[in-house]
Order: sequence, then structure tokens, then C-alpha cells
Amino acid sequence: RAKSEGKSTYHFFEPELDAQARLRRQTELDLRTALRDGHFELHFQPLYSLAEEKMTGFEALIRWNHPERGRISPTEFIPLAEETGLILPIGDWVIREACRHASLWPDDISVAVNISPKQFGTPGLANTILQALSASGLQPSRLELEITESIFISNVERTLSTLHSLRNLGVRIALDDFGTGYSSLSYLRSFPFDKVKIDRSFVEDLSNGGNAHAVIRAITTLADALGMDTLAEGVEVDEQLDVLRREGCNYIQGFLFSAPVSGDQVFTVLGNGYAGKGKKVA
Ligand code: C2E
Ligand code: MG
Ligand code: MG
Repeated sequence: RAKSEGKSTYHFFEPELDAQARLRRQTELDLRTALRDGHFELHFQPLYSLAEEKMTGFEALIRWNHPERGRISPTEFIPLAEETGLILPIGDWVIREACRHASLWPDDISVAVNISPKQFGTPGLANTILQALSASGLQPSRLELEITESIFISNVERTLSTLHSLRNLGVRIALDDFGTGYSSLSYLRSFPFDKVKIDRSFVEDLSNGGNAHAVIRAITTLADALGMDTLAEGVEVDEQLDVLRREGCNYIQGFLFSAPVSGDQVFTVLGNGYAGKGKKVA
């Protein structure tokens, strides 16, 4: 009897589930499977210091190799993972895996990890980080956490205290996608970020002759005054690099230098680019 009841309930709801909702539900199930069966993988994109003229680290970027659907972009599944709470176990895995990889790299090469808003708001985050550091033997100073402005939307005081407690672990903190959020400038005053990552949209606009140049100048000037480093995301062409260099941007990241590469390829990139003074490596 229970079985037939369940069945009729299912039939009652089914028409309400449009194709998109069904795909979402399936994707959620698949995310659980992916976590269990190891379908996630980290790729790494070089971060390049313009002052030192060398690679100083890599950003870890999650990849999902779906057995039927092929590779699915994080922009597609991270929001769903956030909504369903699956970002917590996935995010823990990313932190552990990133630290494990970085512990195999040279001592002066760091790793940056994206922390989603929900993950940031979880009390267990500091513990996860401590455990990942001790399991891998990675120095805390070689781990950088990338957070976005959206963490400031709710409860600024608690956000600041979380940021300070993470900083006390000895890790560094970068503000990702800077300039896309709302009321960006006030956040820069409220916490001493180690690095500000200028959103790709501004770098892109440099090639379109808009006012992005002025915005980038304003950001680098302000960050400099506040003692923070700046990194420009999504640098694809030499003309962008020239402007960024002139405006005193400290770091760049983008296809011009290298696309994200697999964990194995990191060693190839380090081998070439390390002495290669900003030559394109991948
Ligand atoms: P993000 O943190 O801002 O990462 C930079 C994104 O820009 C990456 O996309 C990278 O592949 C892409 N990119 C780098 N250089 C260029 C360029 O020159 N041109 C263009 N057009 N794109 C470039 P990806 O890997 O698809 O990741 C997208 C977003 O997904 C990330 O943006 C981040 O918000 C999120 N994400 C990725 N991995 C993770 C993760 O492990 N955890 C969490 N919470 N979010 C992640
Ligand atoms: Mg990032
Ligand atoms: Mg970004």
C-alpha cells in the first residue's frame, strides 16, 4: 500500500517538474555520486608576479568529469552545490586536495582556493583548513583563500570576525572578482586583504576602449594606499598586459600567460615558465 501511495504522489507532482527542474534534481544526485566516486579534479592556473617576473602560485579550479555529460563547468554546478549544501563536502575536498598538490611544489609557490559564501559561513571551515595543512605539511603562508564580496551581504560583523580568525591561521586572504559586487570600496576599508583580484570584466573592457582604464587605475591606487596587492584576472592579450603593468598592477592571471592546467602539467609549467620570464607556457 505504501508503494502505491508513493507512486500516486509521484504522479501528482511530476507534471509540475519541468525539464529544467528535473535536470537540476538529476544534477544534484550526480554531484553526490561524483563526490563519492572521485569524478572531481583540480586544475591549476598560474599566478604571475609582474614585479618579480615569475610565477608565484596557482589558483585551484575545480573540474567535474561527468561520466555521461562530459566536463561540466563550475559556473554551472557550483551555484547548485551552494543551494543544496553539497558545496560543504565538495569545498572540503577542494581544500584538502589543493593543499596536497601544493605540498609537492617548490616552497616559494603557493596555492589559491576559492571559498564559496556558504562554506565561508560554516563554523567548521577553520578546522578543515587546519587539518588539510597538517595532513599535507603545507605551510599556512602558502595557502591563499579567495572570497567574494557577497560574504559581506549578511552580518558584516560576523564576516569580519571570521576573516580575522582565518587570517590568524596564517593563511592569506584575497578578494576575488573585485568590482562586480555592490558598494565594493567600503569592504576594502573594513579588512586588510592581502590581495585584490580585479574582475576580468574590467580587463576585458581595456580592449574595448571604455573607461576601464580609469577604473583599474583607481583600484590599484587605492589598494596600494591600503597596502594590498592587486592581481588582474583574465589577461588575454599584450595590450591589456601593457596597461596593467603601467598602472602598477602586481600580479596577472589569464590565457596570455597560461590556461588552467592539470595537476601533472603544473610541473611542466613550472619547468618552463619558472625561468621563462613571463613567456606563454600553455
Ligand atoms: P574565478 O575564481 O574568478 O576563477 C577564474 C575563472 O576565469 C576560471 O574559470 C578561469 O578558467 C577563467 N579564466 C582564467 N583566465 C582567463 C582568461 O584569460 N579569459 C577567460 N575568458 N577566462 C579566464 P572556471 O575555472 O570556469 O571557474 C569559474 C568560477 O567557478 C570561478 O571563478 C569560481 O568562482 C568558481 N570555482 C571554480 N573552482 C571552484 C572551487 O573549487 N570552489 C568554489 N567555491 N568555486 C569555484
Ligand atoms: Mg577565484
Ligand atoms: Mg575571479
